[in-house]
Amino acid sequence: MTRPDRTMADSLAERLSGLDLPGRLHLIAAEIPGRLVFTTSLGVEDQALTHGLAMAGLAKGRVEIVTLDTGRLFPEAYDTWAETESAYGIRIAAYAPERGAVEAFVRQEGINGFRRSVAARQACCGFRKVEPLGRALDGASGWLTGLRAGQSANRAETPLAAFDPARGLIKLNPLADWSRAQVDSFVRENFIPYNVLHDRGFPSIGCAPCTRAVKLGEPERAGRWWWEQEEKKECGLHVGRPAASIQPGQEPAIFESNPDVKTRQPEFAR
Ligand code: SF4
Repeated sequence: MTRPDRTMADSLAERLSGLDLPGRLHLIAAEIPGRLVFTTSLGVEDQALTHGLAMAGLAKGRVEIVTLDTGRLFPEAYDTWAETESAYGIRIAAYAPERGAVEAFVRQEGINGFRRSVAARQACCGFRKVEPLGRALDGASGWLTGLRAGQSANRAETPLAAFDPARGLIKLNPLADWSRAQVDSFVRENFIPYNVLHDRGFPSIGCAPCTRAVKLGEPERAGRWWWEQEEKKECGLHVGRPAASIQPGQEPAIFESNPDVKTRQPEFAR
């Protein structure tokens, strides 16, 4: 099987740019050999993408739809998960954190210990999200996400497709050039199930203790880890592969050898 590489990703990005969503999804399914995985957070962009995959006939096998069940999601997220499975007749596979890592962190830092420091928060995201993501993407050739360039300054350069050298796959963001207004009207016009928290001031929804509603005029992701500085506010899923173990209370090191990876991501010691 041809392995994905940078040339394949660049050529795909160019061809995807002129297509609508169904065209993009069909091209991805046709061009990328092997396993395709879509990681949904059950947020509104990901719901739009799940709908697109279902309508294209790709949601029952060709593309595996998975979610990272951190154990700290809002009840409304679980409702959205169940409603989506029922609406499209699909199953969304769960990847959960390793029990030992959860127990060790809670024993050492406390149940909400992720608020004690950026490193503790990144450690929590490391074992609840990044490590399960690694298992979800194991052996995949393509990774689909609902990322948009307009979501935050950190995501402003989001391409339609790019080679991820650390994971050896092509990361695909078919909604990269969509606006939030486009997503909202797509969801409305197609009666796509969505998390009701979006109607209560939550434009971006993550774990319950780390997400709050935003105030009028605040950026979309202002409600995520609101106690941290803006440039540190990513959970590690979209900034590179976890490469180190760090302990809570220890600052993560900058990963300088790979320009595609901005920050060395933590993986809580098991
Ligand atoms: S978002 Fe909060 S609760 Fe969820 S994994 Fe990250 S630090 Fe832990």
